[in-house]
Amino acid sequence: PSRRLPDPQTAIDRTSVHRLTSGQVVVDLQTAVKELVENALDAGATSVDITFRDSGVEAIEVKDNGKGIDEGDWEGIALKHHTSKLASFADLAAVQTLGFRGEALSSLCGVATLSMVTSTAATAPKGTTLSFTSAGACVPQKKVARERGTTVKVERLFEHLPVRRKELVKNAQRELGKALALLQAYALVNTGVRFEARNVTKGKTLVQLKTTASTSLRTAFSYIFSPKDLPSLLDLDLTIEVPTEKSVMKRLEDAADESTVIHVKGLISKPSTGHGRTAGNRQFFFINGRPFQPAKARRLRVAKAVNEVYKSFNANQFPCVVADFQLAPDAYDVNVSPDKRTIFLHSEGNLLAALKQELSRFFDPQQARFEMKEIG
Ligand code: ADP
Ligand code: MG
Repeated sequence: PSRRLPDPQTAIDRTSVHRLTSGQVVVDLQTAVKELVENALDAGATSVDITFRDSGVEAIEVKDNGKGIDEGDWEGIALKHHTSKLASFADLAAVQTLGFRGEALSSLCGVATLSMVTSTAATAPKGTTLSFTSAGACVPQKKVARERGTTVKVERLFEHLPVRRKELVKNAQRELGKALALLQAYALVNTGVRFEARNVTKGKTLVQLKTTASTSLRTAFSYIFSPKDLPSLLDLDLTIEVPTEKSVMKRLEDAADESTVIHVKGLISKPSTGHGRTAGNRQFFFINGRPFQPAKARRLRVAKAVNEVYKSFNANQFPCVVADFQLAPDAYDVNVSPDKRTIFLHSEGNLLAALKQELSRFFDPQQARFEMKEIG
């Protein structure tokens, strides 16, 4: 009998590859929830309900009242790189939706068990349950009663990645906390959307977050935190002009502008009444409504810049901050990593220097302590 040597040409099987790459998109409970909530928002939902079962260890369900999924799209939605949001590579520069890579559902199939119920304006009040294989193939099941919208259910996250599964189970409360912090961020910035998140453990339901659709950030803030904090907050509204770095400009086509204007909108503690002695506590940063990962807020360079300025007015506390940086789509790039956590900002150094100057002027117009000498 001939001895069979392993064939060096043989790549690992497709299922394993899918599981491995999926684990890079969906890295933890927070990213799983983030992808589902972003899809709900991209579908135009004005109401999003998130249910964690056993802190998310058993299942996560996200129910929305968005536009639903047309029957013709069922087959493709959970296949890799299938997206309804980008038609060509050129569209990427101007992408307005939160998702665009067409990888989330495909990856969730790879690392968990995915199923959904969906209904469109044309089919409501009837919908269809869909289940998916680990490769993302869709198996339509039965007709059910369902108003327009979609409910996506992710069961047993990381069931095929034992080390991650163990970590998730062991740190369930911390992981749930990270996911809830991200939901707070989405609920703050999407004021027109009603959010409710609950955790169902051993038959007991605990509501963790609840907002109503409103038009103001202050209202959203008071639902998520407490109305009694509102008087200590100032409405943040800065216009900053950021000189663009020449080195960056040279590499960009159509680089005619020598500066970009950025608006920073949100809320910040008055210098007299900060929010505690810990950085990152109640600090939320966004770019055009896209949240930076809140669990890492205190390590962000923009957070450091804001805290540094605030410190010169209040040496003992850190501020509560909600800050949305509104800038032109070509001034940043979210397509740096599969989980879209890294956002590449052009001329970041100049932006931070200009931000510091404007913020100190905001707190005390008499003395802009931070001059723009850092640029050069
Ligand atoms: P992406 O969001 O990058 O397009 P996803 O894998 O997250 O990729 O989703 C694939 C497609 O599935 C989306 O482009 C969208 O058409 C559809 N989809 C997913 N979730 C929803 C939802 N909650 N409501 C409507 N359509 C959805
Ligand atoms: Mg998506």
